Amino acid sequence: MQKYISQQNLNTLLDTLIKQGVRVVAPRLNAGTPLYEPLTCSAEMVNDQLPRRSAKEAFFPLCEEIMSYRKEGQQISMTDIDPARFPETLLVGVRPCDAAAIPVLDAVFSWDYQDEFFLERRKKTTIIGMACSQSDDACFCSSVGLSPADSRGSDLFLTPLEGGGYSCQSCSEKGETLIANHRLLFSEAGNAPQLPLPSPRYEPFDLQKVKVWLEEHFEDPSWDSIATRCVGCGACAFVCPACHCFDIVDEGTEKGGKRRKSWDACGFWKFTHHASGHNPRDQQPKRYRNRFMHKFKYYHDKFGQTLCTGCGRCIRSCPVGIDIAQIVEEISRK
Ligand code: SF4
Ligand code: SF4
Repeated sequence: MQKYISQQNLNTLLDTLIKQGVRVVAPRLNAGTPLYEPLTCSAEMVNDQLPRRSAKEAFFPLCEEIMSYRKEGQQISMTDIDPARFPETLLVGVRPCDAAAIPVLDAVFSWDYQDEFFLERRKKTTIIGMACSQSDDACFCSSVGLSPADSRGSDLFLTPLEGGGYSCQSCSEKGETLIANHRLLFSEAGNAPQLPLPSPRYEPFDLQKVKVWLEEHFEDPSWDSIATRCVGCGACAFVCPACHCFDIVDEGTEKGGKRRKSWDACGFWKFTHHASGHNPRDQQPKRYRNRFMHKFKYYHDKFGQTLCTGCGRCIRSCPVGIDIAQIVEEISRK
């Protein structure tokens, strides 16, 4: 269903939902840095900057308590966190590279184990994606099968129009319901042209060719030249909309404490450090190779898609200038 919504009506929609107690999460400035965060009013939303971190935090927080424990005398009690307490959420202004990563995460968190923390938040969240009208030198979504106007992962997808407002495409039952519940804010789609989409940095990559090269070159010496300079800071994984590794640790004393689930990264030395002291990925290039293999081979083997949406965040964040798009492009030319 194609509709139109003005900027003013979009603001009214967000303010109405906030007043109703819905958690409305959107790009907003936090000390000058754009991040996906809960809004207190629609005026806080920024449309023209890609958030520094991805939208995955709305479902998979950086760190969260999943249980607490207490020991009094010989009595031990444990208290679970009840996911039913998670609030209804509207995630709005989501970039196509972030929205497309959410179904990628669905596959992992509902595979052999049903992660109720992720899945309950997912069930309670409606996603409004928004087409990009600008890009930078790090963006490469068009090279990995997406585009700046791809609606994958969105329940409702907004495309900015020349003259203001948005054309509005509902992509799921949640999107239809949102429109139906606020029908006075939407009108019939007109003929206003869309704002031009940004130009791609590279032509589409031959991802099948890249995958075949990876299958045949696990021990290739080029991994050393690609990744010797990687310092294992983990920034690339933390900003990535598709990376999803986490660790679970108990914090406290023998008398009580909390069990927490926190983001982890395969670039960290300890990630594969065995209790025996052995580490099968004992050098940084092996750890970077794993990250790359996971994105362009292992995840594809398991779930039939690539674990990279071309958001470019890892390129912008890497302190030593490792550029994953350039590596894929070089492999695809071999
Ligand atoms: S690997 Fe890099 S470019 Fe690809 S989705 Fe993750 S952060 Fe974005
Ligand atoms: S951001 Fe760069 S240096 Fe840090 S772990 Fe990733 S590739 Fe290595």
